[in-house]
Amino acid sequence: MDTRSITLLVVGGGPGGYVAAIRAAQLGIATTLVEGDKLGGTCLNIGCIPSKALIHAAGQFETACHYAQDSPLGIRVESPRIELAQTLRWKDGIVAKLTGGVAALLQKNGVQVVSGWARIVDGKTAEVTTSAGQDALRIVCEHLLLAPGSLPLALPAMPFGGRVISSTEALAPQALPKRLLVVGAGYIGLELGTAYRKLGSEVTVVEAMERVLPAYDEDLVKPVAASLRRLGVQLHLNCTVQGSNASGDAVCIRNARGDESLLPADQVLVAVGRRPRTGGWGLETLMLDMNGSAVRIDDQCRTSMRKVWAIGDVTGEPMLAHRAMAQGGMVAEIIAGRRRRFTPAAIPAVCFTDPEVVVVGRTPEEAAQAGLDCISAMFPFAANGRALTLESNDGFVRVVARRDNHLIVGWQAVGRSVSELCTAFSHSIEMGARLEDTAGTIHAHPTLGEAVQEAALRALGHALHA
Ligand code: FAD
Ligand code: NAD
Repeated sequence: MDTRSITLLVVGGGPGGYVAAIRAAQLGIATTLVEGDKLGGTCLNIGCIPSKALIHAAGQFETACHYAQDSPLGIRVESPRIELAQTLRWKDGIVAKLTGGVAALLQKNGVQVVSGWARIVDGKTAEVTTSAGQDALRIVCEHLLLAPGSLPLALPAMPFGGRVISSTEALAPQALPKRLLVVGAGYIGLELGTAYRKLGSEVTVVEAMERVLPAYDEDLVKPVAASLRRLGVQLHLNCTVQGSNASGDAVCIRNARGDESLLPADQVLVAVGRRPRTGGWGLETLMLDMNGSAVRIDDQCRTSMRKVWAIGDVTGEPMLAHRAMAQGGMVAEIIAGRRRRFTPAAIPAVCFTDPEVVVVGRTPEEAAQAGLDCISAMFPFAANGRALTLESNDGFVRVVARRDNHLIVGWQAVGRSVSELCTAFSHSIEMGARLEDTAGTIHAHPTLGEAVQEAALRALGHALHA
């Protein structure tokens, strides 16, 4: 068996792994990255990017359909239709461009990329079965970085296969189902459920908790729930799925009282979370300390074994691409001898529903639970000129700050395109801004960002436009 020695071996070419490899190579560390499937991982191939492409296409189509019925803007459209095959080609083109970009960046920085599945032998050795079916390759390393990501969680009563699909299949539909049943009203269920509804499917969502997006606070979720109702998405809250009926064309659900009912469905999208990819590739042999189903790490992404590191989804929640990337860059720098710790003031979270939801830092409730005496203020988009010109006056921006020194500890927003406000929110928290800093910064007019400034002004007791 061919054996190679390297300083850093990265297993997994998703956003965590490829960023770690690029940064390590930039810092002069001899690095090999092994990827069994496609560079870019879940994020670029079957996650963040294709989902946002589909959401955008569905949104454009829905706008056209809406204008065909009634357009306050005076736009006249007749009988819009969507050619799904073309939409998917467009989406795949974006994915190809981005994954090609990752390959080029790895090459430019001198990272050795091996195509194949790695199997862990010990904390310094992995064997790779190359995709080309050649002999296995043995790679011996000084540092081993685990970045294998996660997989969709299945429901025991309804395993994946046939009509029961995960987000991966939902992002590449052969045809649109007439009736889609979505299990789970979290990120994937609502992002993709909304997209399918806008594309024309009848969508029903079954959620175990009492409201959609249960991880977010209630006020933030209200405009999303209202929009789902407007779009005609059927919601079954406080319900769990029991399984398919004998003919496979309906799903049995049970509500909190124990009553059962059948919901007809041509396809079932199961979106009840993801599990770290810890099994099936020899990781168990390392007997690493675990944190539930995830690999336990410290604030430098060290596992319980010396010089074995782990980043991204395999280390558990929050399973977000930007967290994986930040961890990857940090580990590379630590290996290169820099002093780094993963202690972000906040990790932003964005849900690309309609309207979008953003959370950075603490909500008022979380601040109170942490024992902080805080003030919070909300500014509605109904009073923001730019929001009105975008035909969107739903939603608000909310700021949470310490009462004593006005240090900002949290931002939340819900509304059209608020995902783009996330950067300003993260900056202000990471840089230790106070309400006065945001209130005293000139925000360009007319922009949604003015609502950010106005929320800070309102918290100080002198909002100008509400
Ligand atoms: P991954 O991206 O999963 O990459 C891991 C890679 O490792 C894979 O390519 C896999 O093939 C490879 N691998 C695994 N085992 C081996 C092995 N033994 N040998 C070789 N290679 C191996 N996050 C956001 O921040 N924003 C979003 O908008 C967003 N949208 C999402 C939408 C969907 C539908 C899904 C499913 C996820 C979404 N996520 C989003 C989550 C995001 O995709 C993940 O958090 C992110 O991809 C995790 O990065 P990672 O590097 O840890 O793992
Ligand atoms: P999720 O954790 O966001 O939502 C799962 C939902 O399913 C929850 O609301 C939960 O209460 C519900 N649920 C669980 N078991 C159930 C059952 N048996 N019956 C009915 N409902 C049930 O998980 P997801 O939507 O699958 O997404 C997985 C991960 O992918 C997310 O945690 C997130 O980290 C990542 N992701 C992020 C984005 C983004 O950043 N915009 C988008 C998509 C996915």
